[in-house]
Amino acid sequence: MKPGALTLENVSFAYTLGEQKVRALDGISLDISEGEMVAIQGPSGSGKSTLLYLLGCMLRPDSGVIRVLGHDISHLSEVQLAYFRNRKLGFVFQQFHLLPGTDVLNNILLPSLYPLEDGGGDGEALRARALELATQLGLASRIDHKPQELSGGQQQRVAIARALIRDAPVILADEPTGNLDSKTSKEILRLLRDLNKQGKTVVIITHDSEVAEACDRTIWIRDGKVVGQDSQKPAPAGPAGPIDVPQFSPLGLTTLLRESMPRAWENLLRNRLRSLLTMLGVVVGVASILSMLTLGTFTKEKILASYATLGVNTLMFFADPNYQLKAVDRPPNTFSSLDLERDVAPLRKIFPEFRSISPWYSSYRHSAIYGGRSVSEEVSVLGISEHGMPITRRELAMGTGILPYHIENKSSVCVIGYGLAEKLFQRQNPLGEALQVSVDEMTFSCVIVGVSRPVFTRQSWGKPDLQVIVPYTYFLTLPLYSYYRKLTDIVLEVDPAADVENAGKKLKAFFTKRYGNSGNFRASSDSVLVAQMRRFLDLFTMLLVSIAALSLIVGGMGITNMMLVSVNERLREIGLRKALGASHSAIRQLFFAEALFLCALAGLFGIVVGFIGYQSLIFLGSKLIPDLEFQWVVNPVALAVSFVAIVVTGVLSGLGPAVRAERLQVIEALRSE
Ligand code: ADP
Ligand code: MG
Repeated sequence: MKPGALTLENVSFAYTLGEQKVRALDGISLDISEGEMVAIQGPSGSGKSTLLYLLGCMLRPDSGVIRVLGHDISHLSEVQLAYFRNRKLGFVFQQFHLLPGTDVLNNILLPSLYPLEDGGGDGEALRARALELATQLGLASRIDHKPQELSGGQQQRVAIARALIRDAPVILADEPTGNLDSKTSKEILRLLRDLNKQGKTVVIITHDSEVAEACDRTIWIRDGKVVGQDSQKPAPAGPAGPIDVPQFSPLGLTTLLRESMPRAWENLLRNRLRSLLTMLGVVVGVASILSMLTLGTFTKEKILASYATLGVNTLMFFADPNYQLKAVDRPPNTFSSLDLERDVAPLRKIFPEFRSISPWYSSYRHSAIYGGRSVSEEVSVLGISEHGMPITRRELAMGTGILPYHIENKSSVCVIGYGLAEKLFQRQNPLGEALQVSVDEMTFSCVIVGVSRPVFTRQSWGKPDLQVIVPYTYFLTLPLYSYYRKLTDIVLEVDPAADVENAGKKLKAFFTKRYGNSGNFRASSDSVLVAQMRRFLDLFTMLLVSIAALSLIVGGMGITNMMLVSVNERLREIGLRKALGASHSAIRQLFFAEALFLCALAGLFGIVVGFIGYQSLIFLGSKLIPDLEFQWVVNPVALAVSFVAIVVTGVLSGLGPAVRAERLQVIEALRSE
C-alpha cells in the first residue's frame, strides 16, 4: 500500500512538566490521504492539538513514525523541518495568531520571509499573489488595516490567506471556527471546503459536529488514542510521491540584516519611550568612554607639551671638585674644572646620542644699567655657545641671538631677558643699544642683539628673565674673578630617540672613570619627572575610562533586560514565526541582530553626544584657562575603542535573549496568552 499524505504509525508523545511526564498521545496510528478533508474530534485534553503539532512538524514524537508527504520527519534536520512547515504545510489557528501592528498584506506575506536559509523567494511575485489571495477572500479593501481593526471572521480569512501564500498542499487547522459565530463559521468552513476541492489536503480539529459533518471523514480520539472513525470515503486522488527537501547552508549576513533591521526598527517604534530609556544607558556609556579617552589623551598631551618646552631632551651636567678628597685617594687625574678641549669637545664623538653641547658659565649678582635706569644685584650673566639657547629651548622675542661668528670673534654682544628689556627699555627698542653690566667694581658693556621670550620655569637658574646672555668666549675675557671662569656646568641636547636618564648616567660614569672621586658629577633633567607625570596621567585616564566602561556595562544590561522582556512579550510572535518556517537559529539571529541594532543606534548616538560633550568641555576650558586655545579634537584610538565597546556591548547584551528566544518551543510559545 502506498503511503498517504499524512501517516502516523504507533506514535506516542508526552510533555515533560518538571519531573512529571504528561502523556498526550498513546500509540496512535492513522492515515490521511492526499486530497482528503478530515475532521478530528474529541473532548478537551484528548490530544487533538498535540496531534496537529506533530503532523505540523513542530514537535518530534517520543516513539513511532510520522510521515508527511512521504518523508519520515525523524530523518529531517531542524532547518529542513522549518522548510517543510513553510512550503508544504499551511496553519490556521483558533486564535488566528496574526502579528499585531502589522498590516494585512504583510501578515499574509509573513511566511514568504522564511526560511531565511532559503533566501526567501521572488518578492514581487509573492506580493502579487498576496493581493490576489486577499481579493479572493474578500479582504481587498482591508489590505492596509491592522488585525485589531478587523472582525474575527476577517482575521481568520487573513490567516487562511497566509496559509495559502506558499501554495502548501496541506492545510492544518486547529479549531479554526472556535472563536467565531455560527454564520462566520459556516463561511470559513465553506472556504476550507473550496480549498479541498482545489486538491488540498485539509485536517480540521474541532469539537463542533456541524464542522465534522462537512468533512469527508471524522476521526474520534480520546486519551491520546483513536477511539473510532467514520467509514472512510474513497480518497479522491492518489497518494503523494516523496518530494525533495533541499539541503541548507547557514544564513548570510545580508539576509539577516535585511530581515532583522526593519523588525528591530518596528519594535523600537512600538515601545518608543522604553527603548529610548534603555538606549540612554548605552548612549551615556559610549559617550563617556569616548570623551574620557579623548580628553584624557588631550590633557596629557597638553601637560606634557608644556613640560617639553622646558627641555625634556635637555641634560644639565654639573661637575664640581670634591673638596672632601682624602690623601689616601689616588685618582687617575685630579679634577678642578672641565676643560673645553679635553673634556667637552670629544663628548659628541664618544656619545652619538648628544646632538649638541654648550658650556654654561654663570656669574650672579650683577647690576644692569641703561640710560638713567638700572636693575641692581639680581642680574646674572650667562656665557654660552650658539647652541646654548636652542638646547635649553630659550626663544627670542626679537633680534638674532648669539651667532657662531660672535663666538669666534669673542664679540661683546648679548641677549637680554624679557624682564630686563621691559624694565630698562620700556617701549624703546633695545636692539643695537649698549648695555652696561657691573659687579662690584668691575664693569663691562655689550651690544644687545636679542631679547629672549619670557621663560616659565620651575627650575630657576638665576631668574632667567633678568639674564644677560653673552658668547662664552667673550665671557672668558670679562674682568671677573677667576673662579667664575672655571667651567663646571654644561648643557646637552639628547637625541629624542635616546633615553635621557640613561645618557646622564653614561656621562657621569665617563667622568668618574676619568677623574675618580676627585670630582662630583651630577646629571639632571626634567625627563624623569615627565615620565612620572606621564605614568600618572595614563593611570588617571585609565581610571576615568574604567568608570565610563562600568556605565556602559550597566547600559548593556539594560538592553539585555529589555530584550528579555521583549522575548516574553513576543512569545506568540516567536512561536508563529517558527510555525511558519523560521528555524531556531533564524530566530536566535533575529534577536541577536535586534540587540546589535539597538546597541549600534545607541552607540552612534553616544559617539555624537560624546563628541559634542568633550568639544564643549574644551571650549569651556579655552575660556577659563588662558594658555588653552579651542581646537577640534578627533582621537582615532578613542573612536576605535568606542566602536569596539559598542560591538562588544551589543554582542554580550544580545546573547542571552537570543538564546532564550531560540530555545522556545513552538507550541509553548504559541500557547502562551
Ligand atoms: P486538546 O487539544 O485535545 O485539548 P492537547 O493536545 O492540547 O489536547 O493536550 C493533550 C494533553 O497534554 C492534555 O492533558 C494537556 O494537559 C497536556 N498538555 C498540552 N500541552 C502541554 C504542555 N505544554 N505541557 C504539559 N502538558 C501539556
Ligand atoms: Mg487543543
